[in-house]
Amino acid sequence: MLNRLFLYTIISIVYGSEIHDKQINKSFIMFAGAKFNLVQNGDSPNRYIWLHGDEQTARMALEYHIGLYNGLAFFIESETREIPFKSTIVDPNRIFSRDGAYYALRKFKPGWQPGTLKMALDEIDRERESFLDILMPNKNGLLISLHNNFRGYNVHKEKGNSQRISIKKNENPRDFIICTNSSDFEILVSSPYNVVLQNELPERDDGSLSWEALRRNVRYLNIETRLGYLSKQKAMLKYIEDNLN
Ligand SMILES: [Zn+2]
Repeated sequence: MLNRLFLYTIISIVYGSEIHDKQINKSFIMFAGAKFNLVQNGDSPNRYIWLHGDEQTARMALEYHIGLYNGLAFFIESETREIPFKSTIVDPNRIFSRDGAYYALRKFKPGWQPGTLKMALDEIDRERESFLDILMPNKNGLLISLHNNFRGYNVHKEKGNSQRISIKKNENPRDFIICTNSSDFEILVSSPYNVVLQNELPERDDGSLSWEALRRNVRYLNIETRLGYLSKQKAMLKYIEDNLN
Protein backbone atom coordinates (compact mmCIF):
# COMPACT_ATOMS: atom_id res chain seq x y z
CA MET A 1 0.00 0.00 0.00
CA LEU A 2 1.28 3.44 -0.85
CA ASN A 3 2.03 5.72 2.00
CA ARG A 4 0.72 9.20 1.64
CA LEU A 5 3.20 11.82 0.63
CA PHE A 6 3.64 14.68 2.98
CA LEU A 7 5.10 18.02 2.19
CA TYR A 8 8.01 18.57 4.44
CA THR A 9 7.76 21.39 6.92
CA ILE A 10 10.95 23.20 7.52
CA ILE A 11 12.21 26.47 8.73
CA SER A 12 13.28 28.23 5.61
CA ILE A 13 15.83 30.97 5.69
CA VAL A 14 15.52 33.85 3.30
CA TYR A 15 18.92 34.52 1.85
CA GLY A 16 20.57 37.51 0.29
CA SER A 17 20.12 39.89 3.18
CA GLU A 18 21.55 40.26 6.62
CA ILE A 19 18.15 39.50 8.06
CA HIS A 20 17.46 35.80 8.28
CA ASP A 21 13.72 35.84 8.16
CA LYS A 22 12.25 32.56 9.37
CA GLN A 23 9.19 31.16 7.68
CA ILE A 24 7.43 27.93 8.52
CA ASN A 25 5.56 25.51 6.25
CA LYS A 26 7.88 25.62 3.30
CA SER A 27 8.01 22.75 0.87
CA PHE A 28 11.21 23.86 -0.78
CA ILE A 29 14.68 25.16 0.00
CA MET A 30 16.97 27.42 -2.02
CA PHE A 31 20.68 26.90 -2.65
CA ALA A 32 22.81 29.01 -5.00
CA GLY A 33 19.74 30.40 -6.71
CA ALA A 34 18.29 26.93 -7.33
CA LYS A 35 15.01 25.80 -5.86
CA PHE A 36 14.84 22.30 -4.42
CA ASN A 37 11.35 20.92 -3.93
CA LEU A 38 11.01 18.65 -0.91
CA VAL A 39 8.88 15.52 -0.68
CA GLN A 40 8.63 13.64 2.58
CA ASN A 41 7.18 10.22 3.14
CA GLY A 42 6.80 9.14 6.76
CA ASP A 43 9.54 9.41 9.32
CA SER A 44 13.02 8.19 8.44
CA PRO A 45 16.50 9.67 8.63
CA ASN A 46 17.12 8.67 5.00
CA ARG A 47 17.69 11.44 2.48
CA TYR A 48 17.58 11.35 -1.32
CA ILE A 49 18.65 13.97 -3.84
CA TRP A 50 18.23 14.53 -7.57
CA LEU A 51 20.70 17.23 -8.60
CA HIS A 52 21.02 17.34 -12.38
CA GLY A 53 17.96 18.58 -14.28
CA ASP A 54 18.92 16.87 -17.54
CA GLU A 55 18.99 13.42 -15.88
CA GLN A 56 15.25 12.77 -16.09
CA THR A 57 15.41 9.01 -15.54
CA ALA A 58 16.89 9.63 -12.10
CA ARG A 59 14.07 12.06 -11.29
CA MET A 60 11.45 9.48 -12.26
CA ALA A 61 13.16 6.74 -10.27
CA LEU A 62 13.22 8.93 -7.17
CA GLU A 63 9.61 10.06 -7.57
CA TYR A 64 8.56 6.42 -7.74
CA HIS A 65 10.76 5.40 -4.83
CA ILE A 66 9.70 8.10 -2.37
CA GLY A 67 6.09 6.99 -2.86
CA LEU A 68 7.01 3.56 -1.51
CA TYR A 69 9.73 4.18 1.06
CA ASN A 70 10.17 6.55 3.97
CA GLY A 71 12.54 9.47 3.79
CA LEU A 72 12.95 13.02 2.58
CA ALA A 73 13.63 13.65 -1.12
CA PHE A 74 15.14 16.77 -2.70
CA PHE A 75 14.29 17.54 -6.34
CA ILE A 76 16.08 20.39 -8.08
CA GLU A 77 13.80 22.60 -10.18
CA SER A 78 15.80 22.63 -13.39
CA GLU A 79 15.83 21.03 -16.81
CA THR A 80 19.51 21.55 -17.40
CA ARG A 81 22.68 20.27 -15.74
CA GLU A 82 23.97 23.74 -14.88
CA ILE A 83 21.85 26.30 -13.06
CA PRO A 84 21.89 30.09 -13.47
CA PHE A 85 23.87 31.81 -10.73
CA LYS A 86 24.58 35.56 -10.79
CA SER A 87 25.92 36.31 -14.27
CA THR A 88 27.02 32.76 -15.03
CA ILE A 89 25.87 29.15 -14.76
CA VAL A 90 27.16 26.53 -12.36
CA ASP A 91 27.02 22.75 -11.85
CA PRO A 92 25.08 22.27 -8.58
CA ASN A 93 27.18 19.19 -7.78
CA ARG A 94 30.43 21.17 -7.81
CA ILE A 95 29.69 23.69 -5.07
CA PHE A 96 29.71 21.52 -1.93
CA SER A 97 33.11 22.90 -0.96
CA ARG A 98 34.60 26.36 -1.32
CA ASP A 99 37.45 25.07 -3.49
CA GLY A 100 35.02 23.26 -5.76
CA ALA A 101 32.80 26.33 -6.01
CA TYR A 102 35.82 28.47 -6.94
CA TYR A 103 36.57 26.30 -9.98
CA ALA A 104 32.90 25.83 -10.86
CA LEU A 105 32.18 29.57 -10.84
CA ARG A 106 35.14 30.27 -13.10
CA LYS A 107 34.40 27.48 -15.57
CA PHE A 108 31.94 29.46 -17.67
CA LYS A 109 33.10 32.90 -16.53
CA PRO A 110 36.88 33.11 -16.12
CA GLY A 111 36.89 36.86 -15.43
CA TRP A 112 35.14 38.34 -12.39
CA GLN A 113 35.23 41.98 -11.30
CA PRO A 114 37.58 42.52 -8.33
CA GLY A 115 35.96 41.27 -5.13
CA THR A 116 32.85 39.85 -6.75
CA LEU A 117 34.05 36.25 -6.91
CA LYS A 118 34.88 36.30 -3.19
CA MET A 119 31.43 37.72 -2.42
CA ALA A 120 29.77 35.01 -4.50
CA LEU A 121 31.80 32.30 -2.77
CA ASP A 122 30.96 33.74 0.66
CA GLU A 123 27.29 33.70 -0.25
CA ILE A 124 27.45 30.06 -1.37
CA ASP A 125 29.33 29.18 1.84
CA ARG A 126 26.52 30.61 3.97
CA GLU A 127 23.73 28.99 1.99
CA ARG A 128 25.53 25.65 1.89
CA GLU A 129 25.53 25.38 5.68
CA SER A 130 21.77 25.87 5.92
CA PHE A 131 21.14 23.53 3.00
CA LEU A 132 23.31 20.76 4.43
CA ASP A 133 21.67 21.10 7.84
CA ILE A 134 18.48 19.81 6.19
CA LEU A 135 20.05 17.49 3.62
CA MET A 136 22.49 15.53 5.75
CA PRO A 137 20.86 12.61 7.57
CA ASN A 138 21.20 12.34 11.30
CA LYS A 139 21.95 9.17 13.22
CA ASN A 140 22.69 6.31 10.90
CA GLY A 141 20.61 7.42 7.93
CA LEU A 142 21.63 7.12 4.29
CA LEU A 143 22.18 9.95 1.83
CA ILE A 144 21.38 8.65 -1.65
CA SER A 145 21.94 10.66 -4.81
CA LEU A 146 20.68 9.61 -8.21
CA HIS A 147 22.46 10.31 -11.48
CA ASN A 148 22.35 9.27 -15.13
CA ASN A 149 25.08 9.16 -17.72
CA PHE A 150 24.80 9.80 -21.43
CA ARG A 151 27.92 8.54 -23.14
CA GLY A 152 31.38 7.64 -21.95
CA TYR A 153 31.18 7.86 -18.17
CA ASN A 154 31.40 4.45 -16.47
CA VAL A 155 32.62 2.68 -13.35
CA HIS A 156 36.16 2.28 -14.69
CA LYS A 157 36.60 6.08 -14.59
CA GLU A 158 36.07 5.96 -10.83
CA LYS A 159 38.86 3.44 -10.19
CA GLY A 160 41.43 6.14 -9.46
CA ASN A 161 39.31 7.62 -6.68
CA SER A 162 38.29 4.27 -5.21
CA GLN A 163 39.75 2.17 -2.40
CA ARG A 164 37.84 -0.99 -3.34
CA ILE A 165 36.12 -2.13 -6.52
CA SER A 166 33.59 -4.87 -7.30
CA ILE A 167 32.73 -5.18 -10.98
CA LYS A 168 30.21 -7.80 -12.05
CA LYS A 169 30.60 -9.79 -15.27
CA ASN A 170 27.04 -9.37 -16.48
CA GLU A 171 26.62 -5.75 -15.58
CA ASN A 172 26.98 -2.79 -17.91
CA PRO A 173 29.88 -0.65 -16.62
CA ARG A 174 27.73 2.48 -16.97
CA ASP A 175 25.39 1.22 -14.22
CA PHE A 176 27.09 1.33 -10.83
CA ILE A 177 27.03 2.46 -7.21
CA ILE A 178 29.57 4.63 -5.39
CA CYS A 179 29.51 4.32 -1.60
CA THR A 180 31.53 5.90 1.21
CA ASN A 181 30.98 3.36 4.00
CA SER A 182 32.99 0.12 4.06
CA SER A 183 30.21 -1.91 5.73
CA ASP A 184 27.79 -0.80 3.04
CA PHE A 185 30.38 -1.78 0.43
CA GLU A 186 30.73 -5.27 1.94
CA ILE A 187 27.00 -5.82 1.56
CA LEU A 188 26.92 -4.45 -1.98
CA VAL A 189 29.78 -6.72 -3.07
CA SER A 190 27.23 -9.55 -2.85
CA SER A 191 24.64 -7.57 -4.85
CA PRO A 192 24.16 -8.01 -8.61
CA TYR A 193 25.54 -4.48 -9.12
CA ASN A 194 28.89 -2.86 -9.82
CA VAL A 195 30.08 -0.99 -6.74
CA VAL A 196 33.11 1.04 -5.67
CA LEU A 197 34.13 2.24 -2.22
CA GLN A 198 35.41 5.81 -1.89
CA ASN A 199 36.25 6.38 1.76
CA GLU A 200 39.37 8.53 1.42
CA LEU A 201 39.32 12.17 0.35
CA PRO A 202 41.00 12.83 -3.03
CA GLU A 203 43.90 15.22 -3.43
CA ARG A 204 41.68 17.70 -5.18
CA ASP A 205 38.14 18.06 -3.91
CA ASP A 206 35.98 18.92 -6.93
CA GLY A 207 33.10 20.15 -4.76
CA SER A 208 30.81 17.17 -5.30
CA LEU A 209 28.39 16.10 -2.60
CA SER A 210 30.11 12.76 -2.05
CA TRP A 211 33.25 14.35 -0.56
CA GLU A 212 31.27 16.53 1.81
CA ALA A 213 29.34 13.44 2.94
CA LEU A 214 32.64 11.66 3.52
CA ARG A 215 34.00 14.58 5.56
CA ARG A 216 30.90 14.36 7.75
CA ASN A 217 31.13 10.58 8.06
CA VAL A 218 27.72 10.21 6.41
CA ARG A 219 26.81 6.97 4.64
CA TYR A 220 26.54 8.28 1.08
CA LEU A 221 25.49 6.29 -1.99
CA ASN A 222 25.48 7.51 -5.58
CA ILE A 223 23.29 5.38 -7.86
CA GLU A 224 24.41 5.93 -11.42
CA THR A 225 22.69 4.41 -14.47
CA ARG A 226 22.48 5.00 -18.18
CA LEU A 227 19.87 7.61 -19.10
CA GLY A 228 16.61 5.86 -19.94
CA TYR A 229 17.25 2.76 -17.80
CA LEU A 230 14.44 3.51 -15.37
CA SER A 231 13.66 -0.08 -14.30
CA LYS A 232 17.33 -0.63 -13.58
CA GLN A 233 17.66 2.45 -11.44
CA LYS A 234 14.45 1.62 -9.53
CA ALA A 235 15.76 -1.90 -8.85
CA MET A 236 19.11 -0.60 -7.58
CA LEU A 237 17.34 1.80 -5.23
CA LYS A 238 15.10 -0.97 -3.96
CA TYR A 239 18.09 -3.24 -3.39
CA ILE A 240 19.82 -0.61 -1.29
CA GLU A 241 16.66 0.10 0.66
CA ASP A 242 16.02 -3.57 1.36
CA ASN A 243 19.59 -4.56 2.20
CA LEU A 244 21.29 -1.62 3.89
CA ASN A 245 19.94 -0.51 7.24
ZN1 LIG B 1 24.41 13.82 -12.48
